[in-house]
Amino acid sequence: MNYWDRNIETIGREELAALQLQRLKETVARALNSPYYRKVLGDNNLSPDSIRSLDDLRRFPFTAKDDLRASYPRALLAVDREEVVRMHASSGTTGQSTVVYHNLQDLENWTGLVARCLVMAGATRGDVFQNMMSYGLFTGGIGLHYGAERVGMMVIPIGGGNTHRQIQFFQDFGTTIIHITPSYALHVSDVIRDLGLSPDDFRLRVLIFGAEPYSEATREKLEQLYRVRALNCYGLSEMNGPGVAFECGMNEGMHVWEDSYIVEVIDPESGDLLPPGDEGEIVFTTLTREAMPLIRYRSRDLARLYERTDCSCGRNFRRLSRIIGRTDDMLIVRGVNVFPSQIEHELMRIPEVGTNYQILLDRVENLDRMTVRVEITGRTFHGEVGELRLLKKKIEHALKEEILITTEIELMEPGALPPSQGKAKRVIDNREM
Ligand code: ADP
Ligand code: ZN
Repeated sequence: MNYWDRNIETIGREELAALQLQRLKETVARALNSPYYRKVLGDNNLSPDSIRSLDDLRRFPFTAKDDLRASYPRALLAVDREEVVRMHASSGTTGQSTVVYHNLQDLENWTGLVARCLVMAGATRGDVFQNMMSYGLFTGGIGLHYGAERVGMMVIPIGGGNTHRQIQFFQDFGTTIIHITPSYALHVSDVIRDLGLSPDDFRLRVLIFGAEPYSEATREKLEQLYRVRALNCYGLSEMNGPGVAFECGMNEGMHVWEDSYIVEVIDPESGDLLPPGDEGEIVFTTLTREAMPLIRYRSRDLARLYERTDCSCGRNFRRLSRIIGRTDDMLIVRGVNVFPSQIEHELMRIPEVGTNYQILLDRVENLDRMTVRVEITGRTFHGEVGELRLLKKKIEHALKEEILITTEIELMEPGALPPSQGKAKRVIDNREM
């Protein structure tokens, strides 16, 4: 087994709980330095002394995305402005943008967490790491960068897009590990094929996927297309960014670095804590963050925690399932709740389906209509009309079984839909709100 920091990665549950308790108290004490928490915790009479056991965390109110928005630009900052060495910000397309601050120690800790993830993925000195996630205010790219360097890999900070150059670099620099969104990986595989190349022309050995929900069928499809192993990497800017949870290769979920985060799963409606195994909204508390500690932050991401804590990789950190989607990604179509990832899962299991799809919603005579545009393989597209009709039926049927809604299917030629170069935008909702 490969470990970056064996002592902490193989810590036992009891010792971990003690460490969490101590760090939780420190976190609350630090949080009180920010105007936001001074008010909220003050109003609720909460202080580090309120925490005698880890269960006392439940007495603390949640922190929501809206609280971050309302705290723009500095109300959650818990250190002097001069101590901050970096900030990240969300795009703000759905409202006031949110900001996350880091001091030097925060960046150092984050680098260490990412190094753990990458070493767990099998990375070593000598690997060539092509980081195909965009760099900038978005944490996807820069988030893995420093950890990758710390491991000693040669890092190519190429970012997203420019697909021909990406593929050229695979060849010229012998790239062994890539970090990419699954939707972009699907597109890149099309371009590889169109260039008359195959995975045998490269030295890739690990794909790291993150930044967007995708289904198990998509992973399998991509593993076949690239003929290498793919590992899931999860994170969100409010909790640093990528590297909060990462798969160990045992294919049983992503280990959450619980020495740095307390993870809870709640019922998104009632806010009640759910037992391990139940699906709900993931809530995080930072344990080591200094510049901007967050207590019980509601991620809006839906997943479940596995009941068992031990794992054959030797780590005892709780494991998180694949992310199903975000509470705000959920589509309500004719009163039925649908996640785009459910549609994706069904599509990617069908061999004739290609690498891209799009979901269109509109309202016709006061009724929701859902159309799914699906790229299919070139061979199928140019094949018999009768077979195309059958395929359409097959897709419609598979979707109906899964989401219980009849959809209109449009079969498209490869490359007909706008390709993703980062986080995919799958849904076009033309319904009036
Ligand atoms: P935003 O997308 O709101 O601008 P971030 O850039 O911080 O925010 O992206 C974090 C979000 O990306 C997570 O909350 C989650 O919804 C999604 N995400 C990140 N990694 C994964 C993953 N491995 N699987 C599914 N979703 C992911
Ligand atoms: Zn494991």
